[in-house]
Amino acid sequence: MSVITNYPPTAELQALDAAHHMHPFTANAELAQKGARIIVRADGVRLTDSDGAEMIDAMAGLWCVNIGYGRHELAEAAARQMRELPYYNTFFQTSHVPALQLAAKLAELAPGDLNHVFFAAGGSEANDTNIRMVRHYWARKGQPEKRVIISRRNAYHGSSMGSASLGGMAGMHAQGGMPIPDIVHIDQPNWYAEGGDSDPQEFGIARARQLEAKIAELGADKVAAFIAEPVQGAGGVIVPPESYWPEIKRICAEHDILLIADEVICGFGRIGHWFGSQSYDIQPHIMTIAKGLSSGYAPIGGSIVCDEVAEVIGGGEFNHGYTYSGHPVAAAVALENLRILEEEKIVQRVHDDTGPYLTEAWARLADHPLVGEAVNRGLMASIALTPDKARRAPFAAPVGTVGLIARERCFANNLVMRHVGDRMIISPPLIISRDDIDEVILRATRALDETLETLH
Ligand code: PLP
Repeated sequence: MSVITNYPPTAELQALDAAHHMHPFTANAELAQKGARIIVRADGVRLTDSDGAEMIDAMAGLWCVNIGYGRHELAEAAARQMRELPYYNTFFQTSHVPALQLAAKLAELAPGDLNHVFFAAGGSEANDTNIRMVRHYWARKGQPEKRVIISRRNAYHGSSMGSASLGGMAGMHAQGGMPIPDIVHIDQPNWYAEGGDSDPQEFGIARARQLEAKIAELGADKVAAFIAEPVQGAGGVIVPPESYWPEIKRICAEHDILLIADEVICGFGRIGHWFGSQSYDIQPHIMTIAKGLSSGYAPIGGSIVCDEVAEVIGGGEFNHGYTYSGHPVAAAVALENLRILEEEKIVQRVHDDTGPYLTEAWARLADHPLVGEAVNRGLMASIALTPDKARRAPFAAPVGTVGLIARERCFANNLVMRHVGDRMIISPPLIISRDDIDEVILRATRALDETLETLH
């Protein structure tokens, strides 16, 4: 393996970064003071920075490097495809082998009659496709007024105007004039933070019934679709009560509302099935995919669409598409990624082995004095930090203050975990071993101990 080692010194790289590079979701002036940590290499579940420090990446990048780092088969698939056909579009009655093969493979993996794929370069673009697709679907069925999409507060569905509007992040909506019209939000099934004294299962039903109440308020003839992640990821790994999804399914079916499952994080094995929808026995009309589709090795996403919606849309021209829809190099990389996931039985391993192992190990974190709950589903997990476990109370400090301290302590212990407010989350590469799960828990515990010390 050839390794690039002749980087300029870290300080020089940081200065260049601070001068010219605008980071996503970052206060750039503040970062410029501190200097970004520069990641130069990765292998398996470990990252190396420009000073040679090695960290366990318990976030799989941004929830995406499902097969782990350093799989040269994907590099070779990309190089092969670049030599053969680096780019062509699929707009004008042409197709190419990687895109059509990937669409066919996804149709095979996706549950039920989700047999058609509209490609994008990532999850945000795919969710923008979904907004247009479901509205166009109802318009073609003679119901153009059926255009409202219902989503949830604290959901994350992307950063473009459409997808960020679908999201329910108040901080995002406060910048740039969102949500766009005809997207409305109901509450999330977050029992820990919002359930008070209620029984979690009753709370799950009550939160699902907010969907029914919203449909009644707007009129079912105005509502096109409901969108949600099977397990909310960027919202803080919020695992819904088991009662939630069956009720959502019933409501969508009874009121003739399309169901969009955003599988950008849950898809491709994260929670123990190929898709999170299968874990919850949901049969959506559309699934949004990205991230684990290529394990992050190339930017690609898309919408997997059921027969009925594809048929209705396909009866005329859908005036929509991206230059990089089904990009041949990204599609070839995704195909190779899916081959590895399948041949190495990685999804099965999460289901049978590492998922249950993490459940046991992670639950022990709930004994820590700072932890109010420790939950997981497959290989995504979160802990809620609290000064008062019995009351599940928030800290007196502004939300996120303690979470940020904990994240920094994780970093100092060479563990990449993320904080969402005062929840700490992980979503490691799916190839993580039991030993490395133990190591994650060990480092996280140390980081929590150090966080507790700073609070005293
Ligand atoms: N949907 C979900 C559930 C996500 O978590 C994300 C990204 O984190 C997106 C959509 C947006 O995907 P992308 O960043 O590829 O545009």
